[in-house]
Amino acid sequence: MYATLGRVFDQTVSMYPNKEALVDMRREKRWTYSQWSDEVHRLANALIAAGVCKGDRVSSFLFNNSELPTALFACAKIGAVFNPINFRLKPEELAYILNDATPEIVLFEEALKDTVEKIASQFPSIQFWFIDDTVPTYAISYREQVNAASATDPLVEVDEMDIYAIMYTSGTTGRPKGVIHYHRNMAEQSMTCIAMLKYTKNDVGLVVAPMFHCAELHCCVIPRVQAGASSIIMHQFNPQTAIETIENERVTVMFAVPTMWSMMTELEGAASKVKTLQRGLYGAAPMAPVLVKRVKEVLGIALIQAYGQTEMGPAITFLAEDEQLTKAGSAGKPAFNHEIRIVRTQEQGSSEPDDKLAAFEVGEIIVRGPSMMGGYFHRPQATARVLYKGWYHTSDLGYMDEDGYLFVSDRVDDMIISGGENIYPREVEDALHEHDMVQDVAVLGIPDEKWGEAVMAFIVAKDTSLTEEKLEEYCLDNNNLARFKRPRSYQFVDELPRNASGKIQKFLLRELYAKDDK
Ligand code: ATP
Repeated sequence: MYATLGRVFDQTVSMYPNKEALVDMRREKRWTYSQWSDEVHRLANALIAAGVCKGDRVSSFLFNNSELPTALFACAKIGAVFNPINFRLKPEELAYILNDATPEIVLFEEALKDTVEKIASQFPSIQFWFIDDTVPTYAISYREQVNAASATDPLVEVDEMDIYAIMYTSGTTGRPKGVIHYHRNMAEQSMTCIAMLKYTKNDVGLVVAPMFHCAELHCCVIPRVQAGASSIIMHQFNPQTAIETIENERVTVMFAVPTMWSMMTELEGAASKVKTLQRGLYGAAPMAPVLVKRVKEVLGIALIQAYGQTEMGPAITFLAEDEQLTKAGSAGKPAFNHEIRIVRTQEQGSSEPDDKLAAFEVGEIIVRGPSMMGGYFHRPQATARVLYKGWYHTSDLGYMDEDGYLFVSDRVDDMIISGGENIYPREVEDALHEHDMVQDVAVLGIPDEKWGEAVMAFIVAKDTSLTEEKLEEYCLDNNNLARFKRPRSYQFVDELPRNASGKIQKFLLRELYAKDDK
């Protein structure tokens, strides 16, 4: 019963005490593994002194700060449950999660003070610990608590089947759900990522994507700790600073969501500054093949893709850098020890795990593997819907090709049925992305009297010369897009609403359409 994240951490501290572990760019502070271990123990002891027991939740409502991974490992060492919360949430959304997760303590910071202030009084039993200097009256100073605590190991017995974290889904398809991950799930996920992404102690990783999201935390930060590598934490993403930091800190590996990679390709002279970067990863949202190609052409980086879901820890598949051209558009092959099947959706008549579809047939992607969640926090019915006969049902549609590569078509709920034909918005989005004047695009189905649903495209244009007529002409001439799939209407917008993990919030576009249609 040894696979706990506390042990993963201790092992690295004992192997590489003097290696640099963490750099917090906001505070201009650097820690070796041994120094960081003292800080982790101090926080762990401070949490115990504040009344946190095994199984209690400790939430973080933070941008990227060193306090976030410090809290993760401090919780891991005392068997408390870590709960990182999306920093983009509005006060009522934050309150929803606090009511659901019922933490003892919430860590927060200056830049998020206004949000916390609006709801703190609703939660008299929660201690709000403030990580910055001017502590609000309703809060407690994190620094004072930590400085007053001992740096000795609290020596709490933690089991690998104890809950390590509750991570909330991004709520793209409804209210966020708390995903339960056990220590063993994440120790397995960490090994998977070390194997697939080839982390070594010589790696220097740059943290630019949000750490409350499991892609950055579980595929990058934790496996880098396990490998003895270091992580440089950028408080909030800025493409210019990211490029300069890669050059100055000799960064070797970085995960970024598709929009971040796209922003970095716009910077002049960027290619000459990213020469130390050996591996660039993307995931959490689809990236049009044309953008993957642009990153290669402009920055000289062949990206590795990860496809996953919070419920799977998140990694389900990886597509290696040398497969980006031969298997363009694919999400890759199953992660180490994971198995994938394509089955009929419930709408197609059955979702039995043994009822597998043939190559190229589109159905629901189901998966099983060692990092699969334990379930949703106190939601047995929702859990039973997705964990069925040992398989996790993703609600993503996709198919396998003849070589076993997975292609993610879209979410089950986003598929458009127009005149009885299935249309996957992603395919139309990829085609429109290839137009020179299209900066960004989102496609969805809108109600249509004749066809049931019709394809509509929201377009961010590079300049005002792009018109609906030009796009219609482009689609009619496009050999990769069947005529029935082309948009029947367009709406030009300044930008698309995206969440922190880079996903387009289509429900907001639907609301926008409904408002304009009245
Ligand atoms: P909710 O369940 O609350 O709607 P969510 O599913 O958006 O939240 P996440 O776990 O953050 O929460 O997102 C997982 C989804 O992101 C996947 O199901 C898939 O649709 C999409 N996704 C992730 N990686 C990729 C990728 N590489 N390519 C395409 N889509 C991806």
